Amino acid sequence: MKDCKIVQDLLPNYVENLTTKETNQFIENHLENCKDCKAMLENMKGKLPTQEREKKEVNYMKKFHKKLNILKGIIIIILIVFIAVIARRTVIMVSLANKAEEIRRSDNYYAKLHSYQGDTLTVTESYHNGEDYLTTMNWFSTQDGNRKLIFYQNGEEKIFLSEINGEKHELNPEQIQGMEVKPITYVLEDFWSNLQCAFVVGIKSTYCNGRECYLLVGDGYERYIDKETGLVIRSIEKSTDDAKRETDFIVDYEYQFNQVTEEDMVRPNI
Ligand SMILES: [Zn+2]
Repeated sequence: MKDCKIVQDLLPNYVENLTTKETNQFIENHLENCKDCKAMLENMKGKLPTQEREKKEVNYMKKFHKKLNILKGIIIIILIVFIAVIARRTVIMVSLANKAEEIRRSDNYYAKLHSYQGDTLTVTESYHNGEDYLTTMNWFSTQDGNRKLIFYQNGEEKIFLSEINGEKHELNPEQIQGMEVKPITYVLEDFWSNLQCAFVVGIKSTYCNGRECYLLVGDGYERYIDKETGLVIRSIEKSTDDAKRETDFIVDYEYQFNQVTEEDMVRPNI
């Protein structure tokens, strides 16, 4: 039949409902009388669901890939932020370490420490000039009364005094070896230690005792470090749940550099 060729050419469009009313009429008239073309139509219709399913699958894969790409993007952003945070912390700590390195070379300074824990206040004052130093530690406690320790080293002379509630005792001066108060810095020597530390220590900018500081928060401790000098201004050891330490242990530090003279090294009265 001459029409078969035309109808078979039109069938794909007919199946997809793309043909006009007139064409449909023509095709349908032909199909009524032609088994071959009808068989071909049935065959095409049979395939349709598969094509649609494939289309759906393709769409699903497209959506899936889109979601996967969004997820990848989020992970990359999180990674970048994380790396930026670690890098910032490392840079800060390395810079503090470099500043503190200069401070640690100083051998003329005055340090004053206030330590608080529970009902006990300890005030430590320490004058340093070269090898010589005078350190006085005062304990004030409502429970245990007041105690005082004096370490004095001037050239060859060493004095070690203890004072409990006003009573003085001279102690073996050889024991005062290394009892000078060194400036407290939060220094990790090498880059890798600082990098490791950056993973476990949180850092933020803040103020402490009127100074611009970085607050380093680690497991059970806080350190306020002077941005300018790298010196620790305040340290807090957090109280733990075991009864051993019931309250936070807080120390405030003050320093003066290159102002200590011979006159500050007052020899204690024995
Ligand atoms: Zn036909």
